[in-house]
Amino acid sequence: MASVELRNVWKIYGGKVQAVIDANWKCEDGEFFSILGPSGCGKSSTLRMIAGLEEISRGEILFNDQVVNQLPPSSRNVAMVFENWALYPNLTVYENIAFPLRVRKMPESEIDKKVKEAAEFLNLTSILHTGVRHLSGGEMQSVSIGRAIVRQPAVMIMDEPISHLDAGLRARMRDELKKQVERLRVTTLYITHDQVESMAMADRIAIMNLGRIQQVGTPLEIYYNPRNDFVGGFIGEPPMNFTFCELLQEEDQSFIVSPSFRLRLDDECKSQFLQYRGGSRLKLGIRPEDVRVSMQPFPNSFALETDFVEPQGDRTIISLRLHGGDILLAQVLGSLRPDIGQTVYVTFDQRHMHFFDIETGLNILYPE
Ligand code: ADP
Ligand code: MG
Repeated sequence: MASVELRNVWKIYGGKVQAVIDANWKCEDGEFFSILGPSGCGKSSTLRMIAGLEEISRGEILFNDQVVNQLPPSSRNVAMVFENWALYPNLTVYENIAFPLRVRKMPESEIDKKVKEAAEFLNLTSILHTGVRHLSGGEMQSVSIGRAIVRQPAVMIMDEPISHLDAGLRARMRDELKKQVERLRVTTLYITHDQVESMAMADRIAIMNLGRIQQVGTPLEIYYNPRNDFVGGFIGEPPMNFTFCELLQEEDQSFIVSPSFRLRLDDECKSQFLQYRGGSRLKLGIRPEDVRVSMQPFPNSFALETDFVEPQGDRTIISLRLHGGDILLAQVLGSLRPDIGQTVYVTFDQRHMHFFDIETGLNILYPE
């Protein structure tokens, strides 16, 4: 197994398309590391450079602290698992797993031993001699992983392996995949555009947008401390609300003010701004679950009218109308069910308010 590190890595196609811009990150040995971002942000280009399938335009890629830029794919020992599993439909489970070993002309007795080990590990022993076209999706996934791990790769790369599945199946496969990879403890680079997959599976996530890494961190770090408004808005469902506000710092009290609210900051929130010297106009980010709603006024609350109410069993999504037409989504637990058009009273959980620079989008309170 290996650690994988990118140092100032760029991918520029045809001298002009900047697909990967100055990427810097390190995936530790044995880590499950996810690269997450919208379609076209440079995820596959990154992984193809790591696998050696694409030339590195600038920078260095290191496995176990050794530069691999000049190594051909066959010498990097990277195993790829693709979206459609890319199995040979006319071959059995056994022959699919054995395939990469046969290509390497390994002796038959050794192939047999390794295939059986992998099958045992992945619970495929009872179907080893079944044709793969008769398998369920979950079994095909296991065979595909078996084929990837049978030659003990330094790194396993998975490029959107379950993105094409429908939601229910995807959730099951996600859990199964996570269990398998956890037991394998092989360094895994997992690409996806689905934040739910990354959040559920990865030890750490690198979020990309427009070719650039936006933030690298654990799922919880990224969720609670987004480095910029892109990350805040990309992670979480329903997504983070954004609205502009003015920071008013007075002698003993501070407020955030917009046409819809005037919120007094509590001591803890206020103290975060002690060192802040930037502009007073800010972009506030607040997740729907951090919006508090009540039918009655309460201290530091403000009145808003409901636009839409969507019961979801144990919780309710309430759309609230801000002055100027923007919508603020609240997600409340329990049985609160205001009518549409009713006035309700709202405040924000101040521990979870995020403030972004209106020009750069950077989180102004981010601990660098
Ligand atoms: P992702 O995997 O995140 O969807 P890609 O790495 O496939 O993104 O693509 C990143 C950008 O590079 C896109 O704008 C894409 O159109 C462009 N791109 C990818 N491959 C090539 C190529 N071979 N030639 C030119 N442009 C490419
Ligand atoms: Mg891709």
